[in-house]
Amino acid sequence: MAYCEILKLFKGMLVLIHIPTVTVDEVSLTYVEPGVLYGYRLEYQTVIYYLKSIFQFHNETVNIWTHLVPFCFVFLKTYICINNLEDATYVSVLLCFAFGSIMYTLFSVLAHTLHSKSPIYHYTCYTLDYMGIGYYALGACILVYYCSCHENYYAMLENCFLPVVVVMSWFGFLCCTVSKLHYRRPYPFQRKLWSICSFGFQFVLVSSVVYARYYDSLINNAISFPNHHTRMFVYLLVSVFFFSSHIPEKFYPGKFDFIGQGHQIFHIMVSLVTFEQFNAAMIDISYQTRLLTNHKPRADQILLAMLAFTVLVLTTIYFLRPTIRNRVKEDSVLEQMWKK
Ligand SMILES: [Zn+2]
Repeated sequence: MAYCEILKLFKGMLVLIHIPTVTVDEVSLTYVEPGVLYGYRLEYQTVIYYLKSIFQFHNETVNIWTHLVPFCFVFLKTYICINNLEDATYVSVLLCFAFGSIMYTLFSVLAHTLHSKSPIYHYTCYTLDYMGIGYYALGACILVYYCSCHENYYAMLENCFLPVVVVMSWFGFLCCTVSKLHYRRPYPFQRKLWSICSFGFQFVLVSSVVYARYYDSLINNAISFPNHHTRMFVYLLVSVFFFSSHIPEKFYPGKFDFIGQGHQIFHIMVSLVTFEQFNAAMIDISYQTRLLTNHKPRADQILLAMLAFTVLVLTTIYFLRPTIRNRVKEDSVLEQMWKK
């Protein structure tokens, strides 16, 4: 089939699945994204309308699918990893990380699908999205500690590691949520900084248990360079860049409304980070954990850490409900002033 005919067919399909959308001037300020001018869904529709919109073309479609596909793949990857596991004591660690990965992809899909229904949905969905990221951060910390930690650090951190990472993951969630509720659109860069610095600081600090292995490999040629972690660090840096910059749409407003937004690239890179974390853990369970024979993960402690995080986050959400309601009221007043 000639190239033009394929293009015509593709355009025809897009018309079929394209729902009526509005421009940036016709949508409430709450939903406006920098550099995105077209393709906003209608507000105040039924939940069914937004669920159906997963299969239609608008400016959130790619954001939804770039986490819906990884959400499905996490189940498959977890199944493969657990089946190939050489030491069954690490099942709880892999399940904890898998749970975190499922939570962040699932709540991201829900947030991008439902957030434009109404302001209350918008703030509630993103609060739950940050909760999902918190679970992922906690799962990633537990994974790196039990599977990839330098042997010198393991015993040293044994008594404090889990309580510290629970509090840090909760603090990351709190920073993202409070900064989302505090700053007004167009959001200043400080809002991104709160998110990047809170979870970023946690990541840099917890990853320090791996950095020592790089040092060891440099001074002792017999030890191989932990390249499986390097790939993950590179993907993560790229993802942070696209998350914080809104590039390319910021420089070409209206050109990347449907495909190519920085946030979509961020989703893809974070998903790659997740799969690299699974791979790195599997490699380290085969080699690195042989050095940690006296220190094995305990499923009950990991479960307790996850429960503690759940209690902290749900209590915080409960106490933040009036703040969310106030923010919705403030947005509505600002909206009316802006329209006059
Ligand atoms: Zn997202």
